[in-house]
Amino acid sequence: MSIDDVMVSQLDGGGERCAVCGKSVAGSSGYTRIKFEEQMVALCCPLCLKTFQQNPLEFVRRQNTQAEVHAIFDLLRPKPVTQ
Ligand SMILES: [Zn+2]
Repeated sequence: MSIDDVMVSQLDGGGERCAVCGKSVAGSSGYTRIKFEEQMVALCCPLCLKTFQQNPLEFVRRQNTQAEVHAIFDLLRPKPVTQ
């Protein structure tokens, strides 16, 4: 898998995704959107809303990682030993 492949799969669909399960909520689909810490968070169903509310920080962090292209490059870049 090349970097281009990763980029394409990450950006595929181009729409929002449920912050909990990753299901597409592009357009008017999805259950609700809530604002958390200055960010809009999309959720596909009441169950995901409930799950999100149990651990919002974790899901917001994960959503940012998935959504931001520069974050993807960061992940792919070899890092000096940090463990
Ligand atoms: Zn969901």
